[in-house]
Amino acid sequence: MSEKSFEMESYCHSIEDLDVCMDDYLYAYDMELDDYCISPSATERFGLEKHRFGKVQEQLAQIVYPEDMAMLAEDLAMVQRGEKEFHNLQYRWLSARKEIVWINCRGRVIHDSNGSPRYLIGCINEIGQKQKADNTSGLLGEEGLRCYLEEHPLNGKKGFLLRIGIDNLKDINANHGIECGDEVLRRTVDAIQSVMQQNQHLYRMVSDEFILLDMGGGTTMEAAQYYRRIRRRIDTLTVEHQYDMVYTISGGVLGMSDMAEYSFSHMMKLTEYTLGRAKSGGRNQCYIYRPEDYDQYLHRKQLECRMRRAVRQDFRGFEAYFQPIVDGRTHKLYMAETLMRFTTDEGKPISPMEFIPILEDTGLIIPLGRWILRQALALCKEVHKVNPDFKVTVNLSYIQVLKSDVLLDIVSGIREFGLSPENLVVEITESGLLEENPNLKRFCKGLHNYGIQLALDDFGTGYSNFHYLHNLRPSFIKIDRSFTASALQNEYEYSLLQQMIDMAHNIDMRLCTEGIETTEELESIVRLEPDFIQGYYFGRPCPAKELLARYTEVSA
Ligand code: C2E
Ligand code: MG
Ligand code: MG
Repeated sequence: MSEKSFEMESYCHSIEDLDVCMDDYLYAYDMELDDYCISPSATERFGLEKHRFGKVQEQLAQIVYPEDMAMLAEDLAMVQRGEKEFHNLQYRWLSARKEIVWINCRGRVIHDSNGSPRYLIGCINEIGQKQKADNTSGLLGEEGLRCYLEEHPLNGKKGFLLRIGIDNLKDINANHGIECGDEVLRRTVDAIQSVMQQNQHLYRMVSDEFILLDMGGGTTMEAAQYYRRIRRRIDTLTVEHQYDMVYTISGGVLGMSDMAEYSFSHMMKLTEYTLGRAKSGGRNQCYIYRPEDYDQYLHRKQLECRMRRAVRQDFRGFEAYFQPIVDGRTHKLYMAETLMRFTTDEGKPISPMEFIPILEDTGLIIPLGRWILRQALALCKEVHKVNPDFKVTVNLSYIQVLKSDVLLDIVSGIREFGLSPENLVVEITESGLLEENPNLKRFCKGLHNYGIQLALDDFGTGYSNFHYLHNLRPSFIKIDRSFTASALQNEYEYSLLQQMIDMAHNIDMRLCTEGIETTEELESIVRLEPDFIQGYYFGRPCPAKELLARYTEVSA
């Protein structure tokens, strides 16, 4: 201890004594004796062996982000040479887990009796550390919740976390101004606090979200009741303020009893998930966590990841299959529908019913739509060597129509493959999302102008609507398999299908019935005289090679 200075000893005592009172780290650096002391809490955070050490630059090099070390060394050298009285640097340290931690290090120089710079004493604070409190709502933030849970371990205790999100706060800010947004935040806090009981605490998370923590044994059902009470209170406040701002909230509930083994960050992730579910379910509602839903969500995320990777790797795992569509009278192959297939790296096939919605949600359907269109055109080109009348159909998603210039892809594709517009049929599924959309109208008009035919897919399900027929003027109507199946079992539906076929013919549209699997079904359906038939009876979807082999066989 003899080589240490008296002043340094006294700085160190103060640093140690103050450690429990602060989140920042104090430090003192004796530049002459190369002796450094930092708040003891920094040891765990940055993986230091001791909070006091010599060989200072060498030790600091262990925790400073390598790229920033030269900048720090230069600044310290200037301080030591007396060229600087104040050290003020923002740079990066590495945490014990080797994560980057941005710090702001400020220090002042203390001189020895000869006036030479001797000590650098100051404070380091983490810039990126989440704000603990929020001034608009007057609440503690996520960090506050983390500290509270650290001090009050769950140990199997009952209770809940209710994450509340204001629906569309961004729109309120954009349409009415930030002050109105702040007022909505305050009103929401008032509403939540008006229903809160003892043993409950409220925290503000990201801008428009709060967490109500219940450590008093509340159940998840009770949490949902709290949500409803808060909503009612907000509605009352809205009336009291003469409907100046009408808004809703969503809620996600997580029971605490099963959370004991989870880390704080995992718990936060789950609360985000629960609120996300409530929002994606249409907002203005409350969702209670169920592990099976979360597993499904993770599975979907994993699939999304795999498909993203596949797209990057030249569409590896995706394949185009083709299913024959035959003439209703001759039963000869007339065209083929292109259907997408996806197989995981482990060889597990995934149903399009599962992966197409993910591709749509992520927008990946746009590159994949382009890819499958090219596969379809390539097959068509190949078949034309034997039969130039052959057509190929491709399914288009509403996302492609609304968010990409799919018409350009189609037209340039047809040109590139040296085909004619009448060789391609575009299948579109009815969807409430497309109705009345000007992009769709423009797209259909464009198809029409180029002479590319349109088929209305899945007719007879969900959004079936005669209005569509008028708007889209399709050349074909494809009757969905479920409708064909019920028509084959039910007399009323059978005569309805008969009427539909007559109607289609009267307005010069042609009709294809999907899903014919057996001879009996075929016999029954041909009596209705559909123009085209598609189904396992005539062939399951198969790879291009198989269809080519089969086509040459059929046409021979
Ligand atoms: P869809 O366009 O109505 O395609 C017909 C579906 O019925 C196909 O299912 C086909 O395999 C199936 N199918 C045909 N005949 C029979 C039959 O006799 N019995 C039975 N049980 N099924 C039959 P798949 O390939 O599973 O595709 C499902 C849906 O996924 C398609 O319905 C379509 O909406 C969508 N899809 C498939 N590929 C694509 C694509 O490349 N792009 C887009 N946007 N959607 C696609
Ligand atoms: Mg289709
Ligand atoms: Mg269909």
